[in-house]
Amino acid sequence: MTSATPIPFLDLVRPHLALEEPLVAAFRRALRAAQFVGGPEVEGFEREFAGYCEAPGCVGVNSGTDALRFAFIALGVRSGDEVIAPAHTFIATTEAITQAGGTIRFADIDERTMTIDPAAVRAAIGPRTVGIVPVHLYGQTADLDPLLELAQRHGLWIVEDAAKAHGARYKGRRVGAIGRLGCFSFYPGKNLGSLGEGGAVTGADPALLEVVRRLREHGQASKYVHETEGYNGRLHAIQAAFLRIKLAHLDEWNACRQRVAAWYRAALGGIPELVPPEVAPYAEHVYHLYVIRTPARDALREHLQAEGIGTGLHYPVPLHLQKPYASLGYRAGSLPVTERAAAQCLSLPMFPEMTQTQVGRVADAVRRFF
Ligand SMILES: *Cc1c(COP(=O)(O)O)cnc(C)c1O
Repeated sequence: MTSATPIPFLDLVRPHLALEEPLVAAFRRALRAAQFVGGPEVEGFEREFAGYCEAPGCVGVNSGTDALRFAFIALGVRSGDEVIAPAHTFIATTEAITQAGGTIRFADIDERTMTIDPAAVRAAIGPRTVGIVPVHLYGQTADLDPLLELAQRHGLWIVEDAAKAHGARYKGRRVGAIGRLGCFSFYPGKNLGSLGEGGAVTGADPALLEVVRRLREHGQASKYVHETEGYNGRLHAIQAAFLRIKLAHLDEWNACRQRVAAWYRAALGGIPELVPPEVAPYAEHVYHLYVIRTPARDALREHLQAEGIGTGLHYPVPLHLQKPYASLGYRAGSLPVTERAAAQCLSLPMFPEMTQTQVGRVADAVRRFF
């Protein structure tokens, strides 16, 4: 078994080799125009990505973390304001709350979808709550309608963390413009990745997007005239050019991911100790990750590694138990569903170019373990 070619967790080489010609041509164009910051490629990408998200507007920024931070600052988060977020996510989601000046309130997740649980959000709302950050985890949206209703009732905003869900749908609507603002990352491994760093904020409110646009550029309203202090948080022109080329393939890549997921589902059926990812009736899942759950997670991971199969853990230590958040007062047991997910989740290889044979080999190895 171990003599077979290894199956990586993620293959970033093949999709880029397939686009080598247009990517190199884009680099050559940028080089010859010496257009490195701002300009037509950034504006073109913003227009096209807004169109893709079925959102009225889009502002390119330097990372998904910038997108979140700028969104919270633009929404006016101040010292003492509480923002409700899941703890089963990447730290960028909550780091950005703190960096904007707010305080994190963690809410537990739904056992089936592992996205934020609206009932837990309702229980976490207090007099200082200003907003909610559902994370569209693994490529599937959180259940947004109950959250929108809570937001409406309590006068809160919703910022979607869509860094893992480019193109996903909630009841037919694309993510990114369902809440007040949507935040995307173009880190290379994401469903739409740049060749470096990148991010975007999407939304429907032009005044709010204008504040984000100023924040990415030192609070500048016009050259060297500043409304506020801001950041150096621009999307690079060369990354925008690369992203425009790759955006044209995103739907096709997401469809490939869905096909890989269907193969997994068929091949991994009927193992009692293994829970496959659940697709909620409201969701169109774009499978940024294919995450199974099993109490035997660590042993299964070792077994797969010995068979040359790469896996990932998203995420092994929940945020409320991480060192930077020790002062928030959470303990082991505070968020039981989150803690169980952290102990049981295993991300199997998932990338658009994965073949049915590769999926079969992963499934066979999983079956041998059980
Ligand atoms: C990747 C990611 C981010 C951060 O994006 P960067 O571009 O790496 O800054 C934020 N939230 C989630 C859920 C992510 O997966």
